[in-house]
Amino acid sequence: MTTPLLPNFLAGRWQTGTGAGLPLFDPVRGTELVRVSSAGLDLAEGFAFAREQGGAALRALSYGQRAALLGQIVEVLQKNRDAYYEIATANCGTVTKDSAVDIDGGIFTLGYYAKQGAALGDATFLLDGARIRMAKDPLFQTQHILTPTRGVALFINAFNFPSWGLWEKAAPALLSGVPVIVKPATSTAWLTQRMVQDVVDANILPAGALSIVCGSSAGLMDQLQPFDVVSFTGSADTGRIIRSHPAVAQRSVRCNIEADSVNSALLDPAATADSEAFQLLVSEVVREMTVKSGQKCTAIRRVFVPRALYDAAAQAIAAKLAKTTVGDPRSEGVRMGALVSREQFDTVQAGIAHLKTEAEVLFDGSQTALVDADPAVAACVAPTLLGSRQPADAEVLHAVEVFGPVATLMAYDGIEQAHELIRRGEGSLVMSVFSADPAFIAQTAAELGSSHGRVHAVSPDIATLHSGHGNVMPMSLHGGPGRAGGGEELGGLRALNFYHRRTAVQASTAALDQWGAAAVAFQP
Ligand code: NAP
Repeated sequence: MTTPLLPNFLAGRWQTGTGAGLPLFDPVRGTELVRVSSAGLDLAEGFAFAREQGGAALRALSYGQRAALLGQIVEVLQKNRDAYYEIATANCGTVTKDSAVDIDGGIFTLGYYAKQGAALGDATFLLDGARIRMAKDPLFQTQHILTPTRGVALFINAFNFPSWGLWEKAAPALLSGVPVIVKPATSTAWLTQRMVQDVVDANILPAGALSIVCGSSAGLMDQLQPFDVVSFTGSADTGRIIRSHPAVAQRSVRCNIEADSVNSALLDPAATADSEAFQLLVSEVVREMTVKSGQKCTAIRRVFVPRALYDAAAQAIAAKLAKTTVGDPRSEGVRMGALVSREQFDTVQAGIAHLKTEAEVLFDGSQTALVDADPAVAACVAPTLLGSRQPADAEVLHAVEVFGPVATLMAYDGIEQAHELIRRGEGSLVMSVFSADPAFIAQTAAELGSSHGRVHAVSPDIATLHSGHGNVMPMSLHGGPGRAGGGEELGGLRALNFYHRRTAVQASTAALDQWGAAAVAFQP
């Protein structure tokens, strides 16, 4: 039986790609669900329509009006939430609480920007900083302004966040007045497509403001012109292709890359096995390994503990992992579902084998049977904790991200060595530090900040308050230096920077006084 081909929305109309298309599967049952195809689309027409019609219509609105549109999108998505959960279960293989990270995380982020944007009111551009005097006479001054770029924002997204991945980028783009074309990862494109369909059907946004192309990415980058921007999330390998494309390399298309990383967790050398910091680290590592089956770019991959606590940490983490039931997310009692595809299953198995060349196995959950899932068909992988007593001698452990429920425990000798080992990740999205000592936390953040987009400190006083190592919150920066891609997203209104152009206006005070309510101070 042929499954339906999902239409694309481009140039203001629904368009079905030609050919048989690419199939999307249920990663637990192996059944085909739908198909996608971008073959035969007139991309040039679609990009021009978004750039010209969508861009002009969005820029005709104020930040406050665009923020109100985001609020309306939130309402539509809330109304259709049940359908999104069904698609996520079927196509992503996630248990309900893991689907929520993606679906409700996306809606929450949109809601956050709706509120933040409302505060910008009637303005149509932003004032960046104060006026600065440029001559002896204070009459001649410079004022930096930020105006929305007159292009499209192309999003090329990863498979692990079909909802959040769209909305965390689209919220600041649309709020900025920049039209969006999203190309979701093929294996999980259905949820993104369905959400866009609901928003289009609700007739909230001006024509051309939101478009979606599902299937092959062929030709998308070729459409980009100098004032367009591209925001990519995915593997470092594809990131390199995007970065070296002539649109970026020659036409200066602004490019944001969110790639993979080998994120760390660090336990304070002063911690003991019965300390709260130790317990907090153990719980967080288990959570990070199992949420979304470890398919989070921010998940903890390397766990650094003082040598004296290596065995105790191994036992405590393994004991908790042993309680993780893996299988069909529809079945009662299942805590962890599947990876997104059988291809990912093979990649993760190969990755574990690669890490094992430098690590011992501390816990292997694959000995326990899957719940209501056929191991020959389902993309289910049980948690695996690896360990290294000599991480300074390792190469692979600091370089290879295995995108599944896998982490490696590492023993360190002295805090300087821990710093050095963490830096061998060559730039990560996030690290977490577990300590009861505020001075140690502050020092760690200052010491390791330059290698990370985010430092998440967990201390007993905020044990029940903190947002989690891997959770990306809209008010905090997301992105990281080096191999993490060098990108920046979110961080409150800082996200608007990417979608605006900064210009220094040098003029007389009289001219600079003219903007009035059209401009508002940019306070990220
Ligand atoms: P991927 O294979 O690099 O694919 C990412 C996206 O790029 C997909 O939409 C893919 O389309 C598209 N693509 C592939 N080849 C392309 C090309 N030559 N030109 C233009 N687009 C191309 O990554 P993935 O496997 O989906 O995602 C997993 C990785 O993403 C992990 O390594 C993870 O760490 C990283 N990630 C990072 C973040 C972050 O915020 N830093 C967030 C989530 C995930 P198709 O699907 O059609 O091939």
